[in-house]
Formats: sequence, structure tokens, C-alpha cells
Amino acid sequence: MTIANLDSEQLRQKYAQERDKRLNAPAGRKFKRLEQPGQVADPHLPVQPREPVSDTVNFTFVGGGFSGLITSARVKEAVPNASIRILDQAGDFGGVWYWNRYPGAMCDTAAMVYMPLLEETGHMPTRKYAMGPEIHEHTRRIGRHYDLYKHALFHTAVTDVSWDADSKRWRVKTNRGDDFTTKYLAVGTGPLTVAQLPDIPGVDSFNGKAFHTSRWEYEYTGGDRFGAPLTGLADKRVAIIGTGATAIQCIPELAKYAKELLVFQRTPSAVDIRNNHDIDPEWFKGVSAEPGWQQRWLDNFTTIWGLIGGRPAEIMKKYDDLVQDGWSELALRVQSVFLSLKPEQLNPEGVMLAMEQSDDETTSRIRARVDEVVTADPVAAEGLKAWYRQLCKRPTFHDEYLQAFNRPNVKLIDTDGQGVDRITPTGVHALGKDYDVDLIIYASGFEFQNTSFTSRLGFEITGPEGTLTDAWADGMRTLHGRQTQGFPNLFLCQLSQAARFAANVPANFLESARAIAGVVKSMEENGKETIDVTKDAQDAWFNLIMSGAARAQRDECTPGYYNNEGALKIDKPSPSGISSGYPHGPVAFFQLQRDWVERGLQTGEFEGTEIA
Ligand code: NDP
Repeated sequence: MTIANLDSEQLRQKYAQERDKRLNAPAGRKFKRLEQPGQVADPHLPVQPREPVSDTVNFTFVGGGFSGLITSARVKEAVPNASIRILDQAGDFGGVWYWNRYPGAMCDTAAMVYMPLLEETGHMPTRKYAMGPEIHEHTRRIGRHYDLYKHALFHTAVTDVSWDADSKRWRVKTNRGDDFTTKYLAVGTGPLTVAQLPDIPGVDSFNGKAFHTSRWEYEYTGGDRFGAPLTGLADKRVAIIGTGATAIQCIPELAKYAKELLVFQRTPSAVDIRNNHDIDPEWFKGVSAEPGWQQRWLDNFTTIWGLIGGRPAEIMKKYDDLVQDGWSELALRVQSVFLSLKPEQLNPEGVMLAMEQSDDETTSRIRARVDEVVTADPVAAEGLKAWYRQLCKRPTFHDEYLQAFNRPNVKLIDTDGQGVDRITPTGVHALGKDYDVDLIIYASGFEFQNTSFTSRLGFEITGPEGTLTDAWADGMRTLHGRQTQGFPNLFLCQLSQAARFAANVPANFLESARAIAGVVKSMEENGKETIDVTKDAQDAWFNLIMSGAARAQRDECTPGYYNNEGALKIDKPSPSGISSGYPHGPVAFFQLQRDWVERGLQTGEFEGTEIA
């Protein structure tokens, strides 16, 4: 039997072998921060001098990415005269789309659901999958549309947040000398904010040029983020370390322009077809004619993705797939296996077998695609095949990545799970060999979990009863992932202990924004000052979340940030809480939230909270 035709059991063994190679790699799987939160260097925009502010605003959001913009937009709609301040370390709105300006940056979720507030802002995405600059410009459009630039503070890092009991306001201090108060405070700095480098010897010793993909230096490479040629690389030997979702997108661009490109791979990504195309304005006109169209698309996408790990009643229904991107197709492939099950197979073992069968088919097809595309170098083709279940690592979709390895100037340095083990003054050392290069690009990702929420935020939040770090010393505790007991008027916009498993991150932010805006509206209309969650409600939510935590256990997976580099054991919440979500899936979570806020708006009381 050839490796291409492994049966299920043999595949399982192969997956375990590949995982073990990575777990036991001598260089380890450790990372270090590129820079500390609050000390972020911005290569994109110069810092503008300004006077410190010392005023009072109604609503403050720390983070100017999608969560900050969406939440602020909904608060503005709900309470039009609210003064809203967004703070960010970046020089403009955009969050990850501000920082990640690497060539080829795009989103592989369909723009019709990934780009929020399209209906409200009247924007038509130009392509099925939007490029980074278009998404970044859209964040700025949202900022303008909702007048959010008015009080915004950019290139500003919060240094301290504390509750002032007398005024019942949060007091916010920053590294620009600001010291202001706010009635409501929301925090949403995103899961991909703290850029990281491999923690290997010699990273500081390299004498050439080096940068992280989220701090791209076009002054060195030439070109720009809009696709202008990277002329500065014509005589350069370039190394890129990492082959995750970011590298998949920028490697085709580097391949076009670098004299030589060495791709240092520890684990290959599974790269499926993307099939991007322009959006036809006539088609868009039809689709967007009826009010509420984008919410319908979002609900459809959540429903279809929710089939993965969803409830049997939902899994057995048929759905029209409006979005038809790689994610919804992936979910429907899993569903088709369920639909083919006989009634006697509808038990946990039968369902598990069906999931595995579907996974085997998909991953085998993706591996076969590598052979079809990478014809110039059979050794590289073999190295580019991913040996793990599809959802062990982030699935990727691209139509030029594998093709890049047919170019004579591109070489895959497959470290067979071991990774690059050191950086030298002249280049990269891997598998016992030195590779001298002019430029090293670290596509090594972002700190994701295993560090505390406040350490990634870069500042402490001190409530009336103490700090958030202390409150979460034994793990994150929340109600709905959004409020935490002892921190009145504070909202957390993040995915844990909420709809953690929903594929589309902006959909999560839209739902939490609906709830936050509802709470703020109700409190303002009823003349209320504070809202805090009760300990009983928080404990009950925690127990519910933990009852489903085993779902996220991925011991069998090859290591990566999805499973805390192979160290994930969910018998208690991680410091960030990041691995646990509402056990009944995103559709049920969103419905629960909508009902909760609807009842609150009618009664002025929000279950599980105390309002004064
Ligand atoms: P990742 O964490 O996914 O990838 C980091 C890469 O660096 C991995 O390939 C890792 O290998 C590799 N690496 C780390 N250390 C070493 C070493 N010592 N030697 C060799 N390789 C090493 O980061 P990304 O920036 O690629 O992606 C982060 C997330 O950003 C994505 O998962 C996604 O959620 C988001 N994103 C979304 C996009 C979209 O289209 N929506 C586009 C781009 C990013 P290994 O796998 O072995 O750990």
C-alpha cells in the first residue's frame, strides 16, 4: 500500500507519528514576544504629537479593531448622544488589518460575512475574498460613518484602569499622559495582538534585515501593500520562517520577486482551493435589496458552521448555503456524512466514525492536490502534505501558494517537524545546516493562550474589590464571556466562554455588541449607574461552560496554537480561558444572547446581573 492510500487506522498512526516528531523537537515549541504590549513599534504611521486628555466620556473601548468598531457603532445607534472614545496602540482603526500589511494579505472568509456593517455603511466588497487594504479601508469607513474618530486616541497605550468608587466611573490612564473617566469601559484587543518570535538562540544576533510579518518594512522590500512589485528583493536571498495562514498568503508574493526564497517549514498547512473572483454589482444589488440581508447571511453562515459539533436535530436538517466559501463547504461536507448514516448508526460511536471518514476523505483530497499542483519538485510536494485532521490546525485556502514551489527560485526547507533551531549572524540554522540570507521574515504568529488576559492586554484593571489578575488567578470567570463579577460597567469582547467555536469572528462581535448596546441603552433610559454580574450567575455559567470543555480537547492533534502547542488539558479554565466555549454551539449561544437582551430591554433587568 502506498502512502497515498492509507486506510483509517494507518492514517491515525501516521498522524500520531508526525505529532510526536513535533512534540519532541529538540528546539522546543516556545515563543517570545516581539515587543511588550504598550511598547509596540509602528512602522506604518508616524506618531503625532498631541495634548493629553482629562475629560469624561460615556463609553470607552480599548482596541480599535473590529470589536471596538462594531461595539461602538451599536452603542452609537442605541444611544445617539453618547460620547464614545476608542483607544489603540496603532495609528488608526483596523486592528489586525492595520498591523498586517504583508504583501498578499487577505481574508479567506467570504467578505459578505467577514466585513461587518456592510449594509449600514453601503459598501459592496470588490471580491468574494477581500484583500487586506480593502478590509482596512472598511474599518476606517465604519469609523467615519459612526463619527468614531471624534474622540479616538491613536498611538496610545492604556497603562492603568481603576474604578473610582466615589464617582462610580472607570479612571483610565495612558502612556500619552491621558487621565480621563468613563461610565462604561469595554476591552477588545483581539486574540492576535501580541506578535511572537520563536524562542531559539541567536534571534538578536542576525546582522542582516529581519522583521515579523505584522511589521512589514516596505522601505526594505520595495513595493506596497496594494500589490506594487517588491523590487527591493530582486537581488536578495530571503528566508521565511513559518508556514501558517499568514505565510501561505505572502509566500506567493515573495516568490515572484525575491532572487531566492527559502521557506522554513516545521508543519505544513493544509491548503485547499480558494477560487476568488470579483463581485458582480448586479448580483450584489439583488442580494442586498432586502433590508436585513447581511444579518440573514451571517445567521446562515453561523448555522452551517454550527453543524460541526452542533446538536443532532440541527445536523439532520438541509440548509441553503448562501456564503459558499471554504468554511461553509467544509461544514456541509461533514454534514453530508451525517445525512448518509443509517438510524442505527446515530450513536456517539457511529457519529465519531462518520466524522473521521469525512475527515479522511477531505484531507486525502487536499494531499492529492499537492501532487497535482507541485510538479516541479516531488520532494517538496511530499513535504507540503499535511498529516493531521483538518481542524487540528487552521484550515487554509489559496490558489497560488502551492504553485509557488514550482518556481526555480523557491526552495522548501522542510525541517520534518523539528523547526529552525537557531539564528546565526549570517542566517538560519536548521537540520544541522547553515543557510546564509539577506532577510529573515518571521511568520511565526501571535501569542494566543497560556498567558494571562491582563498580561496580553498590557495593563491591569482594578475594580472595587481588587485586580482582574487576582480575580482570575484560578482561571477566567465570566457571565456569557462578557462581564465578570466585581467589575461593574466593564465589558469584555472576546470569544472564550462565549461562542468560541463559531468560525466567523466578526459575527461574535456583532452579537456581543447587540447585548452591550442593549444594556447601555436600558441603563441610560432608566437612569441607572452600575451593572455587575452576580456570583451565582457567574458560577452557573462557568459550570455550564466546563461541562462541555472536553470538546476542545485535542490531545491527538499535532501541536499548534489551537491546542496550546500540544499542552492543552482542559480540566480547569486556562488563564486566558480561551479554550472553552458555550457547549451547545454558536447558533444556540447567539439565540440565548438575543433573548437575554430582549427580555432585559423590556423589563430593565438583565438576568444574572444587579443594576443600581
Ligand atoms: P501561526 O501561529 O498559524 O503560524 C506560525 C508558524 O510559524 C507555524 O507554521 C509554525 O510551525 C511556525 N514556526 C514557529 N516556530 C518555528 C520554528 N522554530 N521553525 C520553523 N517554523 C516555526 O501564525 P500565522 O500568523 O500564520 O496565523 C495566525 C492566525 O492569524 C491564523 O491562524 C488565523 O487565525 C489568522 N489569519 C487569518 C487569515 C485569514 O485569511 N482570515 C490570514 C492570516 C492569518 P508549527 O505549525 O509547526 O507550529
